Amino acid sequence: MKAQVALVRCATYEETAVEAMVRQACDAAGFPDASGKTVLLKPNILKGASPDQAVTTHPAILRAAIRYAKSKGAARVLVGESPAFQVGTAAFKKSGLLETAAEEGAEWVDFLDAVQVENPEGKVVRNFTVARAATTADILVSLCKLKTHQLMYFTGAMKNLFGTVPGLQKSQFHLRFPDRERFGQMLTDLNLAVRSHFSIMDAIVGMEGPGPGSGYPRSLGLVLASRDPLALDMTACRTIGLDPHLVANLKDALGRGHWIGSEAEIEVLGPALAEVAVTDWKHVPRQAPDRKIPAAFRNLFVSRPFFSRTKCSACKACVTICPGAALELVPDPRARAKKSIRVNYDKCIRCYCCHEVCADEAIVVKRWRPLGFA
Ligand code: SF4
Ligand code: SF4
Repeated sequence: MKAQVALVRCATYEETAVEAMVRQACDAAGFPDASGKTVLLKPNILKGASPDQAVTTHPAILRAAIRYAKSKGAARVLVGESPAFQVGTAAFKKSGLLETAAEEGAEWVDFLDAVQVENPEGKVVRNFTVARAATTADILVSLCKLKTHQLMYFTGAMKNLFGTVPGLQKSQFHLRFPDRERFGQMLTDLNLAVRSHFSIMDAIVGMEGPGPGSGYPRSLGLVLASRDPLALDMTACRTIGLDPHLVANLKDALGRGHWIGSEAEIEVLGPALAEVAVTDWKHVPRQAPDRKIPAAFRNLFVSRPFFSRTKCSACKACVTICPGAALELVPDPRARAKKSIRVNYDKCIRCYCCHEVCADEAIVVKRWRPLGFA
């Protein structure tokens, strides 16, 4: 039997329209029986950002998903997420999701309350520490956002589960798996340890360019839903003209035997992909596989973060999250009253976590240091 992915057009975040389209997508894709069950909705809150920045799952999608789960008889609806850096309620409030959950009577759960889970089928990780709620809920729904991603090229339903790893523990995985392929294998392992039962993707407005935290909102006008997160992610990639086989975690997941084994096993319900796909989406530039580049040439050929002295507010978020301990906040040599970031590129593992958390858009990721970038 094929994995069904429901594709529904939705041009606006207007509440009634979103509720109707989420319902249509969930009904078509076969939302699991929720009667009397606990449903956990896991939105994407990378960092504190307002909904119009397209960094986070839009509150209208969360509202619609809560109402849908309740209409299907869910006894409890939980909402939880753990951003890498801005743990606590500030990021949740700014995204509008905390307020929405409260308005709809859903319970916000603390993802810092974590447990260890064994993962016997893991390829590179056999034991994860994850949010307790993700292991105890009857139905886990990945409520993801379609975005580009500097490291993985794309983030959707499967990458979204990385948020079940509490706070800064996420950055340690970048240190353990600094190259794209192995990091992708870790993400697949995590999706085995914490299995989602259903995924709903907010692709009404996605993010193109330098995502997932500093890209540009771009209207796509779609809601996607599926029981199979890999099928959903591969379909989403096609809607933005990206070959899903270039996304390391999706490529790895194809061979695991737990989700689809090839794109031929996907049945798209709704408009044909060719009707909705865009051809001019701004993608993250592709890079050569890290392991094929000798260390001496990495600074030349692998994109690295550059820090703007003028935009940096010296908040230190990048220093805190950097798994390679490559960053320092030091007195600015050009203005002693100020502080600025000093980077040691020999220590930098090119995880781009700094770029993800910077709220001031003071970091660009590129290959060459352009003259005059200050
Ligand atoms: S570069 Fe960004 S994250 Fe780092 S200290 Fe400056 S403003 Fe903060
Ligand atoms: S400087 Fe940025 S890209 Fe380099 S290791 Fe630190 S967080 Fe990762």
